[in-house]
Amino acid sequence: METILVRANLLEFLSAEVIRFLNEDPSNRMGEAWGDERIWEQPLLGAANGADPIFETFKDTVDPLHWTPIEAFAAGGLEAKAEELTAVSWVLPKNEQTKKDNALRKDLTTERWARSRFFGEEANIKLRVHLVEFLKNAGIEAVAPTRLPDWSRLNSERYIYTSKWSERHIAYACGLGTFGVSHGLITPLGKAVRLGSVVLRGLIPTAPRPYTSYDEYCPFKANKTCGACIKRCPSGALSKRGNDKRLCSAYMDNESARTSWNTSDLTATAAASARPVSPALQVFLENSTDTVRSGSGFVLLWVRLSANCILVFSCFLAVIHQHICSFYNAV
Ligand code: SF4
Repeated sequence: METILVRANLLEFLSAEVIRFLNEDPSNRMGEAWGDERIWEQPLLGAANGADPIFETFKDTVDPLHWTPIEAFAAGGLEAKAEELTAVSWVLPKNEQTKKDNALRKDLTTERWARSRFFGEEANIKLRVHLVEFLKNAGIEAVAPTRLPDWSRLNSERYIYTSKWSERHIAYACGLGTFGVSHGLITPLGKAVRLGSVVLRGLIPTAPRPYTSYDEYCPFKANKTCGACIKRCPSGALSKRGNDKRLCSAYMDNESARTSWNTSDLTATAAASARPVSPALQVFLENSTDTVRSGSGFVLLWVRLSANCILVFSCFLAVIHQHICSFYNAV
């Protein structure tokens, strides 16, 4: 037991490193068109002991193949007792402008949002790898379960899409939030977030989770109030019955061709940039056609609509004028 690290300040130690990484690492930037704007703002971290019984319950609620912390540790070639381990999870919130811009859209996401999703997850992957190395340098063994070769996504009869290490469920176990109608995690930093985690050999004192049920933060689950996500969902995948993931996925596949981004400068910027566009974003970009971009695009859209209205009205006046002239000529 003497080799187990018990550090009351280990979570603060990790929080400080995550904040430093997000501030300094170039991966946490939107891209040249947005200058040095950060993708992720101030994070929130939580922890759960590796022997917490909640991890066993995920074999039922997520998938029988879902890992416990000790199984994830073993998948990384490391040995420990469950109670010697701690799962540490973090919440990365999108920046305020990204959320504001996206709120204006009704059918598809903004380019800024998609960049946060794709480039932001690349930063999140880099953060996982970095933290494992950072802990190793501090003499603490750790794994990032979703970066392990044996980790994989799973097709589930019950939940459609799952994986061997669900970041949302780990964050839930670490006291960072509960699930909403869309199965997204409602965290103290909101729902426009990405999550990540590591499992480390060491003990971090943890407080009891601030909730007792998996959907406690969602008022729709409790008393059918709110439902804002159901009203906003453009595909009909969200309903009072829950989330139809197949419908959502089909909508995303079919509608991505309608994305309204100006991609010419983006692809040129990406080509000239040191950071390549991820293959998934490239596919998304190649299917893009229009020139509307977030806030300024909204103004452009209104200018276009106004111009079209003036044109239609002018045609209407011309037709009326023609009819009046014809009438008087006939008389
Ligand atoms: S019903 Fe409201 S609180 Fe619940 S997930 Fe939807 S938007 Fe969030």
